[in-house]
Amino acid sequence: MIQIENLYKTYQLGETKVPALRGLNFRVQKGDFRALLGASGSGKSTLLHLLATLDTPDQGRLLFMGQDLATLNEDQKSDLRNSKISMIFQNFNLIPALNVKQNIELPLILRSDLSDEEKEQRIRIAINDVGLNEHMNHKPDQLSGGQRQRVAIARALVPQPELILADEPTANLDSATAHQVIDLLLDLNQKRNITFLFATHDEKLIQRVKNLSWIVDGVIKTTP
Ligand code: ADP
Ligand code: MG
Repeated sequence: MIQIENLYKTYQLGETKVPALRGLNFRVQKGDFRALLGASGSGKSTLLHLLATLDTPDQGRLLFMGQDLATLNEDQKSDLRNSKISMIFQNFNLIPALNVKQNIELPLILRSDLSDEEKEQRIRIAINDVGLNEHMNHKPDQLSGGQRQRVAIARALVPQPELILADEPTANLDSATAHQVIDLLLDLNQKRNITFLFATHDEKLIQRVKNLSWIVDGVIKTTP
């Protein structure tokens, strides 16, 4: 599903060049539930951002379902992010002024290929999947951390994506809540065959993933 060849990314911080990815090669298969492990600063977030087409590499190739991401224009990237690739963030990235339902609806707003009925149905299914039926009209500041992450997961689900990228998805959750969120993600992986790639330090998550990859100084070291 993902094939990465010789990927380089360097950030420019004032006068200083900060190398983040240094010739990284990597593959993710359809159906993987894969964690990307590595020290802080090793390049995990950078890799996820490049895969999510939120940034572009300096060198190398990123193929998603056989398509070279470098060939996509900005509209096509935006389409991809609202259809086949979703992302979940450590700090949830919800819009405070919008209620739960409106936050979940966001990826569907630009989807002219779906009828209003289809959109409504997808939102209902996603809200039900994450168990937030009773909270549709709540604003994010009326929710617990675990509920907020469930909203972010539902928002990632409404496009019915092939791939969900998640950057430290359990880092801001207490232990019991983190386990519930992991149960939910595993269930989605198994029942919907959604491929997951997580950047994480969290032992609770690491213990339950099937596939582990280590990133050290911007390259993948091992992929058992
Ligand atoms: P991780 O997610 O594994 O902690 P990152 O991908 O965030 O690692 O960072 C990799 C390297 O790139 C680090 O040295 C970090 O300081 C640097 N970096 C990340 N984002 C930026 C940025 N926007 N500007 C400058 N340097 C950055
Ligand atoms: Mg990071």
